[in-house]
Amino acid sequence: MNLTLDPAIAARLAADTSLWRDFNDICDCGGRLAGTESEKKAFALLRERVRAASPANSGRSIPVPYNGWKPKSASLRLPSGAMAACHPLVRTIATPKGGLTAEVIDLGRGTPDEFAEHAAEIKGRIALVRHELMFAAGTIHRRRKYDAARAAGAVGFLIGGPLQGHVVAGSSGRDTGAGIPALGIAPETAAKLARTAAGWPTVTMTIETDEGPAETETLVYDYPGTSDEWVVLSAHVDGHDLAESAMDNGSGLASVLAVTRALSPHVAKYRRGLRVMFFSVEEWALTGSAQYVQALSEAERRKIALNVNLDSVAGSPNLAALSSGYAGVEPFMLRVAEANGQSLRAVRPLMTNSDHANFAAGGIPALRLVAGFDDPNAHLRVVLTPADTRDKVAQSELRQATLLTAALTAAACNADPAEAAKWRVRSS
Ligand SMILES: [Zn+2]
Repeated sequence: MNLTLDPAIAARLAADTSLWRDFNDICDCGGRLAGTESEKKAFALLRERVRAASPANSGRSIPVPYNGWKPKSASLRLPSGAMAACHPLVRTIATPKGGLTAEVIDLGRGTPDEFAEHAAEIKGRIALVRHELMFAAGTIHRRRKYDAARAAGAVGFLIGGPLQGHVVAGSSGRDTGAGIPALGIAPETAAKLARTAAGWPTVTMTIETDEGPAETETLVYDYPGTSDEWVVLSAHVDGHDLAESAMDNGSGLASVLAVTRALSPHVAKYRRGLRVMFFSVEEWALTGSAQYVQALSEAERRKIALNVNLDSVAGSPNLAALSSGYAGVEPFMLRVAEANGQSLRAVRPLMTNSDHANFAAGGIPALRLVAGFDDPNAHLRVVLTPADTRDKVAQSELRQATLLTAALTAAACNADPAEAAKWRVRSS
């Protein structure tokens, strides 16, 4: 099996100046929060760039109905009476008109232990936890902390961000129905909300929102191979409206566009076809990809040999592939990386932090390529803050991730059936 990317394709990718242009143009669309003009602009841009790469392929759009949500205003009044910067978490409920006034209980990082130890004190108070580096082993996802706060009877939720001077965004994980008001705040604001000799500090959260049915889309471009099997290459379009969502996930989108340009003229000769997918409402509990995988029959799922999902692939030169419990795909991806002169770290546990998780849960081998895994100093630590801007990404990092993606995708398209069968073997 030839695992080395065709030198002509590699040379083309190495010289593709559109990679950096696309990345900047995607960032220029803005933060791409689902339901905004910024998200629509990004979809239009992706359509235009894929059309330029393969004019004969008009693709298809799958409608994605979801529960729309728009923040109208948010504020946080501190015990001193001063107002602190804050950011409403996606799909947070609104507060009553006059706001929600309650004591804040600081639960530190917000581990299950901390929630358990304070179980008797959380009811009727606002739970304060901390945002964690998302790309690390043992990370406790914000949504789990939000759920723990609700389960313990908290009336509100505050999460302190990782970067001084900056609030943090993210999703509450709520869909419709009951919930508690949830705001992202800056770390120095969280520091002001510690319990003191005087007791727990009292704050007022005020949030106004608009909710109602909404619709976005999943964009799909099929480039058939010689069989009816597929390799799905995916990235999510949406982000948060704090900045330009550059690392998360302008980097993944630009890489997917470049790989599409480089591979699409060749796929007809490959064993498996290339299915390029752009998902949205990823930041809303992975909704776009969840709907896609749920709608696939068992037979269709078996025809997808592998999902290669790019999410936050630049911002650090160190790349990891999250194999999502599919131990059988690890030797393949490591051999491809080595054959193409790249280092790659394999991380096995399924992390439900991007669209690959829905493929994996649906029985389809899936991996997420991510930069800066387990590196607390990587720029990736500021993902979901206003500092997720294009200056955090080096051209060389984006190029390297793109070359590795092209190599993995082409090798997966060409792998023989015995090799592809191994990918479906799970660790448990
Ligand atoms: Zn992402």
